[in-house]
Amino acid sequence: MKKIILTGDRPTGKLHVGHYVGSLKRRVELQNSGEFDQINIMIADAQALTDNADNPEKVRQNIIEVALDYMSCGLDPEKSTLFIQSQIPELCELAFYYMNLVTVSRLQRNPTVKTEIKMRNFETSIPVGFFTYPISQASDITAFKATTVPVGEDQMPMVEQTREIVHKFNSVYGETLVEPEILLPTNQACLRLPGTDGKAKMSKSLGNCIYLSDDSDTIKKKIMGMYTDPDHIKVSDPGKVEGNTVFTYLDAFCKPEQFERYLPDYANLDELKDHYKRGGLGDVKVKRFLNSVLEEELEPIRQRRKELEKDIPYIYEVLKKGSETARERAAQTLSEVKNAMKINYFDDTELIKAQSEKYKG
Ligand code: ATP
Ligand code: MG
Repeated sequence: MKKIILTGDRPTGKLHVGHYVGSLKRRVELQNSGEFDQINIMIADAQALTDNADNPEKVRQNIIEVALDYMSCGLDPEKSTLFIQSQIPELCELAFYYMNLVTVSRLQRNPTVKTEIKMRNFETSIPVGFFTYPISQASDITAFKATTVPVGEDQMPMVEQTREIVHKFNSVYGETLVEPEILLPTNQACLRLPGTDGKAKMSKSLGNCIYLSDDSDTIKKKIMGMYTDPDHIKVSDPGKVEGNTVFTYLDAFCKPEQFERYLPDYANLDELKDHYKRGGLGDVKVKRFLNSVLEEELEPIRQRRKELEKDIPYIYEVLKKGSETARERAAQTLSEVKNAMKINYFDDTELIKAQSEKYKG
């Protein structure tokens, strides 16, 4: 069986370092590993509209931002198909048929959707499109016959829902769709990177992000204002590293060799943590170190972005070509789906013959 990737992001803002450690960095590694037959990266504008219906301009403006972030992180249109969801109408058609295979109560149990509904204060006025986006996500994944979905932990329920739909579809209509596997970050800190305010998840909707395209000064300010241990008041106080966002970010980003470069008094992160726990290590010193670590990771991305920003029409051309390729792939799957469901009336010569027989003499 072919090894195929499908993943993507909503164009609701620029991408942040949570996206980077949760999914983006891994995608680039997988792309360059040469182990995959096909890599599909989707800008999920139709999904973004499910909770931004009154603000299409926001979605429209952010498509280019996400594409620039992708390519500056190393996604290469020669190796990966970068495309825009709304340009593939076959995805809507698939979703429409999958809707018959999922119950309302099953959707209501989805923990990520539950949290997002609360966060957006939808209460009883939940848009139907938003409520059903896990089904639409199942279309995105299955349209490409994806075997692997590299995403953050919040996407687990979506991939699970997709697997259920595939299972149901195949058992009702015959073996047609492929069950995908989720590929989560192996580093615990990257599963769900917290925001700079210490809140559970860095998220565009919560305004607690460090963006990949932030300049050095902005990042420094954000790091200096970051949530640490509220009980660590004096330098001499013992401090906590669990739930301390600065240390979580170091867990996510820091490489052992960076100590020699930026903080040679310590051999590794464990030694730094031990000192913090004992007391006698100030937040500012740890934050300065984090700043150097992040700068090292983000500066090359920023530079590549500046280059890419010089030719915006080229980026749109990449997305247009990618969308054409993606559409061909999705159309192939849709045709297999319709054959399996026997809604292929005009291609089915057997059907026409059988119906003619019925009305003969
Ligand atoms: P929105 O608030 O509009 O939903 P978001 O910041 O949650 O935006 P998405 O576009 O929903 O971002 O997520 C895209 C991908 O990035 C998904 O694979 C998701 O799991 C991953 N991701 C998003 N935020 C984080 C995070 N804080 N830590 C790890 N992975 C993340
Ligand atoms: Mg999200």
